[in-house]
Amino acid sequence: MAERPSWIEIDLQALAHNHRQLQQLAGPERRVIASIKANAYGHGVLEIARTLEACGAFALWTGHVPEALALRAAGIRAPIILFGGYLPQDLPDLLRHDLVPTIYDHRGLAEAAACEQSAAPVVVKVDSGLGRLGVKLAEAGPLIRSIARTDGVRLAGIYTHLPFRDRSGMAWAAASAAKFEDLLAELRREGIAPEITQLWGSSGLIAGLADGTNAVCIGHLLYGLLPLEAALARPLDLLPVCAGIKSRLIHIGRHAPGADLAIAGRYRSSGASIVGVLPLGLGDGMPALPAGTALAALVRGARAPVIGVSLEHMILDLTAVPAPAIGDEVALVGRSGEAGITLAECAGTLARTPLELLMGFSGRLAVRTACSVEARSPPFGVRAAETVGP
Ligand SMILES: *Cc1c(COP(=O)(O)O)cnc(C)c1O
Repeated sequence: MAERPSWIEIDLQALAHNHRQLQQLAGPERRVIASIKANAYGHGVLEIARTLEACGAFALWTGHVPEALALRAAGIRAPIILFGGYLPQDLPDLLRHDLVPTIYDHRGLAEAAACEQSAAPVVVKVDSGLGRLGVKLAEAGPLIRSIARTDGVRLAGIYTHLPFRDRSGMAWAAASAAKFEDLLAELRREGIAPEITQLWGSSGLIAGLADGTNAVCIGHLLYGLLPLEAALARPLDLLPVCAGIKSRLIHIGRHAPGADLAIAGRYRSSGASIVGVLPLGLGDGMPALPAGTALAALVRGARAPVIGVSLEHMILDLTAVPAPAIGDEVALVGRSGEAGITLAECAGTLARTPLELLMGFSGRLAVRTACSVEARSPPFGVRAAETVGP
């Protein structure tokens, strides 16, 4: 009762399928660490983490401490690694909660070493050129050697992050990756070879870039999202984990033909004679309609144009819907009868990427599980193979 009748549907079978595909692509000698940051890319971190744990994911990786703590409280036992997202003085507390923190400077090392554990596991992040979080490549060797010599901590991993979208980004990532691998080789010669070394996320893995590390950390692809130009992706059969963005009609207004409808004065005489109202507005993370946008939702298998979005409501033109009724399910994304709207289609109409659209709803809409393997989208690589050739 307390729940607003608007929700995101996630397909956990699709998640398990994607995990299997990615493990196969990574190869038996490489571990797949699942990135569940940002509420599992908006899919609802708890159900996603439970499924990944059941799939045998080697570890879960997030930069959101409250979400990581919630997973521990919910009984998730899989190793959880933290990308960051905390102050140095919080490190002992994170270790106490069985989380493996990333450190990237001497201050972090000192704080981690001061915790009461005898060999607290930590991972080190190297900034190989992205210019975001991490110890700079040139300073990484000395920091990592200090960690290896420090009694209170155990060096569990070394990683970097080089995401890219297009061909020039790929060339940059490949060149930067080579420098990171040189560092790993140099450390290995000194006997520093931690359990986890990781370089590629989704873009490097699906583009098939060379990799001498023993793990990949995958987010986008796990959820069926493609973070780079399709032409750079190798063929891979992945399914969308977000199977729907849905709501229910809470009101139907029947207006006589010619009625002077003027919703907020903006949609004057839309011509609609039947309008429907959904509890799905800006406050739920629904984007405002860009000017001139023709967005539609599905009701009883028919397309209902979206007339407007306000703080708490969305208004639909139900004229083309056969016998609409209060309580009818409405799909902004997902299946309705014979019809369907994909996440990519809806996001594209709203001038957003699928992930940006999901992030708007994240933590605001309820998450429900659905198991509809019927909604199979074609493999990513089909178009890539056609344009790139053999
Ligand atoms: C988010 C993240 C990943 C996963 O990236 P995807 O493109 O979503 O696969 C990997 N490594 C690091 C360090 C990250 O922050």
